[in-house]
Amino acid sequence: MDLKMKHVVIVGGGFAGLTAAKTLGSKKDIRVTLIDKQNFHLFQPLLYQVAMAGLSPADIAAPIRSLLSKHENVRVLRGVVTRVNTSDNSIDTDIGSFSFDYLIMAAGAKPSYFNHPEWEEYAPSIKTISQATEIRRRLLNAFEKAERTDDTKEQKKLLTFVVIGGGPTGVELAGAIGEMSRYTLARDFRNIDASVARIFLIEGGAQILPMFSLQHAKRAARDLEKLGVQIWTNSLVSDIDEDGVTVGSERISSSTVVWAAGVQGETMQFGGDVGRDRGNRIMVESDLSIPGFQNVFVVGDQSNIDDGSKDLPGTAPVAMQQGRFAANTILNDLAQKTRSPFKFTDRGQMATIGRSSAIVEVGKLKFAGLFAWITWLVVHIYFLVGFKNRLFVVFSWGWSFLTFRKGARLIVDRDWQIGGETDSPSQS
Ligand SMILES: Cc1cc2nc3c(=O)[nH]c(=O)nc-3n(C[C@H](O)[C@H](O)[C@H](O)COP(=O)(O)OP(=O)(O)OC[C@H]3O[C@@H](n4cnc5c(N)ncnc54)[C@H](O)[C@@H]3O)c2cc1C
Repeated sequence: MDLKMKHVVIVGGGFAGLTAAKTLGSKKDIRVTLIDKQNFHLFQPLLYQVAMAGLSPADIAAPIRSLLSKHENVRVLRGVVTRVNTSDNSIDTDIGSFSFDYLIMAAGAKPSYFNHPEWEEYAPSIKTISQATEIRRRLLNAFEKAERTDDTKEQKKLLTFVVIGGGPTGVELAGAIGEMSRYTLARDFRNIDASVARIFLIEGGAQILPMFSLQHAKRAARDLEKLGVQIWTNSLVSDIDEDGVTVGSERISSSTVVWAAGVQGETMQFGGDVGRDRGNRIMVESDLSIPGFQNVFVVGDQSNIDDGSKDLPGTAPVAMQQGRFAANTILNDLAQKTRSPFKFTDRGQMATIGRSSAIVEVGKLKFAGLFAWITWLVVHIYFLVGFKNRLFVVFSWGWSFLTFRKGARLIVDRDWQIGGETDSPSQS
């Protein structure tokens, strides 16, 4: 590679970083180095399916290296970025330092336990493959343990599941646990009736799915209740331990608790001042660069635009559009064109509740039920990276839809999990 070419370093191969790299791929006079702490791009919107044994990890992940292999000007490295030095345009990583002409930071977000890091041990969140397989392990183990005990109090605790956070991820998880216990597992056990499993969905606000219309939030609540999910709104969790969850004056005994309540921007040291919002996201200008450093962009879940407008949601479309925008801004700079502000094009939102129900809102167009679920399915398969993955996912879903079976019901002990992720909770 010609070292005189402009060097763009991209941190993170998620939705934002990968889109930026593809936009700069095969472009003249630019060389790109993409650094990620893991060697695969993860399709997080389907992570809950891994946790619920519907899909295997490899169905929703693809090696970053192969996704970018056709672009000869892009180099992919596995490494952990620890610090950004704006004073000399370099970054520090565990595999050495790299200097850049332009930097695109796209390191995403991580779970936030609202100043209670000790809760993570008892209530894993769902952000990485190892967390999803850990949730799957705890969930399936709870049914196994309930099957082999005759202590009814213990059985009740084992068959009680708590999901904290009533956003799309919490709703998808709670619905999937309800469906799994009622349809998939119900006929596989002899000593217990898996279909009597209790699922609590705990939400601090007044309604679940606050980003959706009230009409659709109510529809989702009804669909969840049909799957045995009890929804507690206006309910704040005050404690979580190995025996369950305390919500106000109520105590729920449970051995399986999942955290889907909050995220914060990925922590990264910056030499020089950067502003951060309450969610630890880095404040950027309207062109997504950090104030005073036009060659350093922060995009996706790691950033928040400081222009007084409403915060953008932490979603894949925002990340992809911002990744593409930052890359195009660099190309425009090199062509000596003036910069413009980032504008998000909102193409709507959707959430699924169980195997054949979903809600979709695209501008004024709002629909729910089976057709919404088919729309959700088509969109998710379309955006899943890699033809092989799409094929496997269609096959797996088709199979479990027709047979009520789930193919990935393996309890994998933690020693054997897909490795490389450093942010998984410790074993309980
Ligand atoms: C369970 C779940 C369900 C979701 N469902 C939806 C949905 O249905 N629809 C939707 O639009 N959005 C959904 N989202 C949100 C969406 O996935 C995120 O908004 C999106 O992934 C953000 O993209 P990003 O590129 O900013 O970050 P990410 O996709 O998180 O990518 C960040 C990358 O940076 C890497 N990285 C982090 N730190 C470092 C470091 N120090 N050094 C090197 N590399 C690093 C990570 O390994 C990762 O590959 C969901 C998220 C979750 C967790």
